[in-house]
Amino acid sequence: MDRAKKGLLCASAFALGGVAAQFVPPAGSLHSTASAASEIHLAPAPRLHPKERYAIPQPIHPATPELEPFDFTDGKIMTGATSRRMILFTFDDGPDENNTPILLDQLDRYGIKAVFFLTTNRMAERTPWGRRHRELAREIVRRGHTIGNHTMNHPRLGKASEARLLEEIDGTARFIEDVTGVYPVLFRPPGGIRSERLDRFVKERGYTMVLWNIGAGDFQVDTASLVENTLFRVFERRKREDGHQGGIVLLHDTYRHTIEAFPRIVERFLAENCRLLEAGEELYDFVEDPRYFFSPRDGAGPDEEAAPGDIPPAVLAERQARLREATRARCGL
Ligand SMILES: [Zn+2]
Repeated sequence: MDRAKKGLLCASAFALGGVAAQFVPPAGSLHSTASAASEIHLAPAPRLHPKERYAIPQPIHPATPELEPFDFTDGKIMTGATSRRMILFTFDDGPDENNTPILLDQLDRYGIKAVFFLTTNRMAERTPWGRRHRELAREIVRRGHTIGNHTMNHPRLGKASEARLLEEIDGTARFIEDVTGVYPVLFRPPGGIRSERLDRFVKERGYTMVLWNIGAGDFQVDTASLVENTLFRVFERRKREDGHQGGIVLLHDTYRHTIEAFPRIVERFLAENCRLLEAGEELYDFVEDPRYFFSPRDGAGPDEEAAPGDIPPAVLAERQARLREATRARCGL
């Protein structure tokens, strides 16, 4: 419990310099990297060499304010449900040396911070390939993104024993801490599969479970257009059926078609903001981290979900004012 308790997850608050990991994953546990033909041409992924390769360009999205470190320990389950136009991007199953570096540059270009739920089997290999993935995990932290725990081997944990949960959740969290210097307290179950035992374990260990309400099914398709269209179709359904106006977006930085779809998705929200500004409506706000969906557990049961949009109105008003100003300039209004 103490391990999880001590974790703060505002990644930028931590200095780097993690210890190289020495885990060896079970054979056959590695994901394959999908490659897909697409109409968008992207430059090849750079060879990883953090300090030199990653000059951070000027963001074209309004700069995010400096945030105080925030304790995500022991919160209610985050689902993404919100009546506000807040969007939090999350990327699962990485890091992936072919795709994550491109995504990190895209995020910098838009000034967006995301949450990366790491599946650590690639990082655990005692090979140059494994080392490059460990470096990539540190780079995610260095660029100010938040790291979450998505297990070592991506097993379905619905029927997992206590020992397996300890290994896949606590073991992975300690491994990520060794590599990045950050003990991740956000946890996302592989496949979103839960059980009473898993929920209880997460609560007892002081982690906070993060689900999503806007998926794009990017693991089931192979073009950027399909990812983009599915995401917005799902979002429209959430609006219509559940009254959600924003939420937590689930994507995977292990697929090239997802990386190609991401700027299109962002641009579509940005274009929509031009229209919303003219209509005098609330704008879509890409929030930096999960605090906008977080509420403390305060003794609530293991399966208790966080209330949507529990943010001081003044904070939201200030964000919207800043966003309107930037959007006015960007859209020529
Ligand atoms: Zn996953």
